[in-house]
Amino acid sequence: MTALPARREAAATARAEFDVAAVRAQFPILSTTVHGRPLVYLDSAASAQKPRAVIDALARLYERDYANIHRGVYELSQRASALHDAARRKVQRFLGANDWREIVFVRNATEGVNLVAQSFLAPRLGPGDEILVTEMEHHANIVPWQLVAARTGAKVVAAPIGDTGELDLEALAERIGPRTRMLGVVWVSNVLGTVNPVEEIVALARRRGVPVLIDAAQAVQHQPVDVRALDADFLVFSGHKVYGPSGVGVLWGRLEHLAAMPPWQGGGDMIERVAFEGTSFAEPPFRFEAGTPDIAGIHALGVALDWLEGLGLEAVAAHEAALLAAAEDALARIPGLRVLGAPKRRASLLSFTLDRVHAHDLGTLLDLEGIAVRTGHHCAMPLHARLGVSASARASFAVYTSAEEIDALARALRRIAESWR
Ligand code: PMP
Repeated sequence: MTALPARREAAATARAEFDVAAVRAQFPILSTTVHGRPLVYLDSAASAQKPRAVIDALARLYERDYANIHRGVYELSQRASALHDAARRKVQRFLGANDWREIVFVRNATEGVNLVAQSFLAPRLGPGDEILVTEMEHHANIVPWQLVAARTGAKVVAAPIGDTGELDLEALAERIGPRTRMLGVVWVSNVLGTVNPVEEIVALARRRGVPVLIDAAQAVQHQPVDVRALDADFLVFSGHKVYGPSGVGVLWGRLEHLAAMPPWQGGGDMIERVAFEGTSFAEPPFRFEAGTPDIAGIHALGVALDWLEGLGLEAVAAHEAALLAAAEDALARIPGLRVLGAPKRRASLLSFTLDRVHAHDLGTLLDLEGIAVRTGHHCAMPLHARLGVSASARASFAVYTSAEEIDALARALRRIAESWR
């Protein structure tokens, strides 16, 4: 997540410091084959593969420590509950949050946005109000706002991006008006890789009294996070993109917001007292966690965060910066290949088109060589429309990606570009 010259510099040191072979050895799936070829997995932005520590944590919980949580007085339930509570504190530490009560477990980043839209924002919205997002948002940070806007007569408006795939901060500031009730902004674009200056954006919105939700689904796996320093109101991320299991995600919210927000789903575990005459609700975060959660998944998410922090997020960032620099160089030399956007700060992913080859065909041809990339609109149709393309291919890099895999991608792309000329 660094600027271009720094990326090149980081490349040399990262190679020396980061033992990618040792990291790869911890991911069993990376030694499998696809179509008889070694798997080259370049779709970690869609979902990351899981290290042995996470896979084992899931199995171990089911084998030794599994029961429902916060219910039983018996030893096993208490053990499962203690692991659950510990996972919440690990997320608190990972995000640098002030208080464990600010950590709400949800299914994924998408559910976190829906929760904020329905519980926090809907009661504050009226006809003519505006929810501001940006042109580079994932559908997860557009559609939940559209749903509450449709119910309340509000509307969703988008701040523009420039041709390099960066936000136009002046235009964004101008779009914040007296009717703006919320700003939803992605930290790292899942298509362009653009790293938005979220601290600056939050400060800008805060001066106008507009609450901010940060979509950190593509950010927290690449660099250290500190929600206190960010000073936003809400932040969401998904477990499955941070080397944890799918089915669990996190909403972080300022405690004063969460304490004032009504529940959005009702059921067990989210109440204080239930009677047919009326029900009172638990304090946050439990008020927002109706029903039995993903007990094993939440535990394994905590293990994934420990594991990632064990590698060191600074080292991860340097390793990925080196990969990105290598990929940018290699792809620039392929005839007919166009990388989408050219942001000054980019996380470790690149989307591209290749002349005369549709993205889906490109994905299929790469797959035949064992190379997995994402193709399509990447759940960002408005962004693709803005860029004037209907689909693209995306290669994304993670802690386990090696320089050899970047070479394999470049070789395959060159062959395809030459044979389809
Ligand atoms: N925001 C961004 C930027 C994403 O890349 C994604 C996942 N592609 C999401 C939100 C949604 O994540 P999930 O599907 O895990 O809820």
